[in-house]
Amino acid sequence: MTTIAVIGAGVVGSAIARELTRYRVRVVVLEREPDAAYGTSGRNSGVLHAGFNNVPGSKMARMCVEGNRGFDALARELDIRYKRTGKLVVGFDEDDRRVLTGMLSRGRENGCMLEMIPRAEIDRLAPKVRGEFAMYSPLTAILDPFEYTFALMENAVRNGARFLFNRPVMFISTNDGVYLLHTPTGDVRADFIVNAAGHGAAALARTLGLPEIETYPCRGEYYVLDKRVGDTLPLPAYPVPNPRAGGLGIHLTPTVDGNVLIGPSNEYTSDADDRATTAPVLEELLRDGEKLLPGLSRGQVIRTFAGVRPKLTNRGGYHDFVIERSGCAVNLVGIESPGLTAAMPIARYVTELLGEVTELTPRADFDPYRKAFPRFRDLPDEVRRELVRENPAFGEIVCRCETVTYAEVLDAVRRGARTVIGVKNRCRASMGRCQGGYCGSRIAQILHSELGLPYEEILYHMEGSWMFLPHTEGAADES
Ligand SMILES: Cc1cc2nc3c(=O)[nH]c(=O)nc-3n(C[C@H](O)[C@H](O)[C@H](O)COP(=O)(O)OP(=O)(O)OC[C@H]3O[C@@H](n4cnc5c(N)ncnc54)[C@H](O)[C@@H]3O)c2cc1C
Repeated sequence: MTTIAVIGAGVVGSAIARELTRYRVRVVVLEREPDAAYGTSGRNSGVLHAGFNNVPGSKMARMCVEGNRGFDALARELDIRYKRTGKLVVGFDEDDRRVLTGMLSRGRENGCMLEMIPRAEIDRLAPKVRGEFAMYSPLTAILDPFEYTFALMENAVRNGARFLFNRPVMFISTNDGVYLLHTPTGDVRADFIVNAAGHGAAALARTLGLPEIETYPCRGEYYVLDKRVGDTLPLPAYPVPNPRAGGLGIHLTPTVDGNVLIGPSNEYTSDADDRATTAPVLEELLRDGEKLLPGLSRGQVIRTFAGVRPKLTNRGGYHDFVIERSGCAVNLVGIESPGLTAAMPIARYVTELLGEVTELTPRADFDPYRKAFPRFRDLPDEVRRELVRENPAFGEIVCRCETVTYAEVLDAVRRGARTVIGVKNRCRASMGRCQGGYCGSRIAQILHSELGLPYEEILYHMEGSWMFLPHTEGAADES
């Protein structure tokens, strides 16, 4: 059977893997990190964009609109949460109005539903948000990017795909018309390659037929605010973007779990792995956030993080996604925003490109459904009581801030979490106000007992982030 290797287990690689399992092919995904969604896919605003920010006719525009429209059906199949909150881009003066009017007509050209609304309507939708008027996009939605990526991966696995973690593809060679993907722990043979390696894609693409391509890392820093702020922001609120900057402007986004994000900033960096947050930028976030939602303060912050865009331009603005087939390889380069929204249409397009060079025979037994595990905190008391009666593991709260039970942590491990962060990203244990101060060691203990991992091998996040030191003979004498 034909083997297709997908490089990268972000949202795009996972969507592609799922889409390919509709056909009679063997799908193997190679990911350099210990889990999915460790790259840009887990470090973004979690907005399902409507598609008005992108140039009409571009892949970005087309795939964003298609991704947004198709999400209701997809979310039902994958049993994932999202909210069609709508979104406001607020303006304050006549310059803003001119830019918004241009955005509105471009957005309509892309097929988006949009309207200009007065202050009175902002008062109805989001009374605490500042602004004299706004462009309102009713179809914009919010989702949990981790949940989405894991659901795609789980469904791909259910349909036969294999995900290999800690398998960085160092280089690729060919032998008798077959690709060899070289990794530190052995080679993987494949007839076709899909290079969805995010920041690693340009380097791999240069060996796979796109010699001239380069991406420029552009970091976006965020504040995560406590859920108490969540009630004040029912929908994402954006400023009018500066067309010369690389992003959409520092905005405020509620998350599906009730937190609020402030960010992201826009800073070109030399290192795609540099996800540091910095004091001057964080100051700026709070200042700009306050312009949209008064009353924000550092006391509401529970965490900072950063995501890095793989941009195809180093001069701000956007360059369209590059998705090109070269022989038996498809390269995806510069999949920055709106890549989360566009992941599924991208996956279908990649499948079309592969269909040009190999026969893809549909399988009758493809199962599009994946079932989520119960989220204890979202359930009414009578359902909770029933769950605890059926399974006492629901009776132990592991994470007090987010009300995550032992049963949910176990489920996260059984679905593939191998690190503390892997558990956190799947079920939110340690994502709350104390950031794991209370439950971090209990999660490590569960990883130890469920997986038989020695404590000193348990990782918090990446390779090298050990949580426990091995016992050292005589350490006490030396101190
Ligand atoms: C600050 C910010 C905000 C954003 N907000 C939004 C938003 O609100 N809505 C939206 O639609 N989009 C948004 N985006 C864009 C979106 O997050 C990305 O387009 C999307 O996540 C890209 O997914 P990916 O799978 O291509 O990349 P990634 O998630 O980066 O996945 C690539 C994977 O490849 C792996 N890899 C790299 N090199 C190798 C190798 N050699 N071998 C094996 N594996 C390798 C990496 O470890 C990584 O896991 C935002 C992006 C940023 C940075």
